[in-house]
Amino acid sequence: MTDAQAQLIAKAEQKLGAKALITDPKEVEPWVTDWRGRVHGAAPAMLAPASTDEVVEIVRLAAEHRVPLVPQGGNTGMAAGATPPADGSALLLSMRRMNRIRSISADNRLAVAEAGVVLATLHEAAHEAGMRFPLTLGARGSCTIGGLTSTNAGGTQVLKFGTMRSLVAGVEAVLPDGSVHNGLSGLKKDNRGYSLDQLLIGAEGTLGVITAVALRLVPAVAARAVAWAGVKSPLQALELLRFLEERTNNIEGFELVPQDSLDLVLRHIPNTRAPLSGGHSWHVLVEATTAGAATDIAAEVEQLLACALQQGLIGDAVIAANEAQAEALWKIRDSISEAERAEGQTLAHDISVAVPDMPAFIVDAAAKVERAFPGVIASGFGHLGDGNIHFHVRAGNHAAPGWYEREGAEITRMVDDLVTAAGGSISAEHGIGQLKISELERLAPPGRIQALRAIKQALDPLGIMNPGKLVRI
Ligand SMILES: Cc1cc2nc3c(=O)[nH]c(=O)nc-3n(C[C@H](O)[C@H](O)[C@H](O)COP(=O)(O)OP(=O)(O)OC[C@H]3O[C@@H](n4cnc5c(N)ncnc54)[C@H](O)[C@@H]3O)c2cc1C
Repeated sequence: MTDAQAQLIAKAEQKLGAKALITDPKEVEPWVTDWRGRVHGAAPAMLAPASTDEVVEIVRLAAEHRVPLVPQGGNTGMAAGATPPADGSALLLSMRRMNRIRSISADNRLAVAEAGVVLATLHEAAHEAGMRFPLTLGARGSCTIGGLTSTNAGGTQVLKFGTMRSLVAGVEAVLPDGSVHNGLSGLKKDNRGYSLDQLLIGAEGTLGVITAVALRLVPAVAARAVAWAGVKSPLQALELLRFLEERTNNIEGFELVPQDSLDLVLRHIPNTRAPLSGGHSWHVLVEATTAGAATDIAAEVEQLLACALQQGLIGDAVIAANEAQAEALWKIRDSISEAERAEGQTLAHDISVAVPDMPAFIVDAAAKVERAFPGVIASGFGHLGDGNIHFHVRAGNHAAPGWYEREGAEITRMVDDLVTAAGGSISAEHGIGQLKISELERLAPPGRIQALRAIKQALDPLGIMNPGKLVRI
């Protein structure tokens, strides 16, 4: 521990009490490695404030002693943005004790949740208020509102409701100079220049510490229908989406699953079974919901899929007859990454291209990668309707210690080049963190990098907020 860190810790203990400070290495240790276990950091202590005032104290001390802070929520991020540097130069700032829902109102359709509120807890609170917070994702039992906001997370309902950027009405944050930005009023209109709220969304903790967020709620779901359909290709899957969207406004989830991913899930995940008999090269999971009790959503989806079958848009389909069956279909989709991990080494790329270009991109990019590295298995699954696919490459017969660092790095560069050439993004929803920072620097237009650096420099001139993540100055 450096002298500066020791002084900061002593003052923090004096001002905030022992509860706000964790120095026992055994308690700190589980939080210094990223969720995937790929990046190992170190931190001599973890600060755990319980209020915005306490965050202000900590940030002021960090500025005074020039000690960097790494904000952390549930540590479920995919880009190692919440993992401290390995040299122990930074302190972890755990936001998990700030876990109050300050208010929730069905009348103005807003909830104000502190940064450490876990997403599933917000879902329950909204449900109790007769409303719904629509964003959801596989890590909902651990990820926090602060982390979701800081990564501008997406998930499986983006098609209808957008990413966090669409669902955040305002942000309260402690800026790097210790001042508090309060954007929680929920104003629909506020044109006082640059939006600090929007700057903080997706900033990955590099511009300040988010302490609370005003979130938009939507009416609760009265009923949902979940269906699984077999299709010939990603292009046919997109045609099915367009067909459905032209006939109903109720589609909110549309996930592409290749047969290869389904096979892995069936092989590695207990209590899963193929939704359809017969072979289909590709599959889609469709979720439709309605807030109106009068709509028979299952009948609507059934009729639409029957029509799609007649027109040759799908090979077969099944609709979940009850919630258990609906959950079983979602379990297949949500278990793909876990099944891949059980199978062996897998490189994950969270990429986006324009929606109409995505089907061809998946097929072409997979063929190019497999041609360049014979024996690896490349495929894309996920949020086709958002133009966002998890383009994963399995090592196959190349599996070996050090594969990620050597050939894996080459494959990632190739995928990122293909995405960039297609006018897409090398990070659709997981952020840049420390894992993609070099690729961002390599591929982003110079003007974009310069603008990011200028913003970082202006708001955090001392470089105390999550240095080494997203943008290097
Ligand atoms: C099984 C699984 C499925 C997932 N599915 C999806 C998906 O479909 N879509 C998707 O977008 N993501 C997905 N993720 C990724 C992850 O859940 C999201 O990135 C989530 O937003 C991270 O929240 P967290 O609280 O765990 O943040 P952390 O991992 O703790 O932090 C993430 C980043 O935010 C910063 N941060 C955290 N809290 C604050 C704060 N209060 N103030 C300032 N900065 C802060 C950190 O410094 C870091 O840079 C998935 C993860 C898992 C494990």
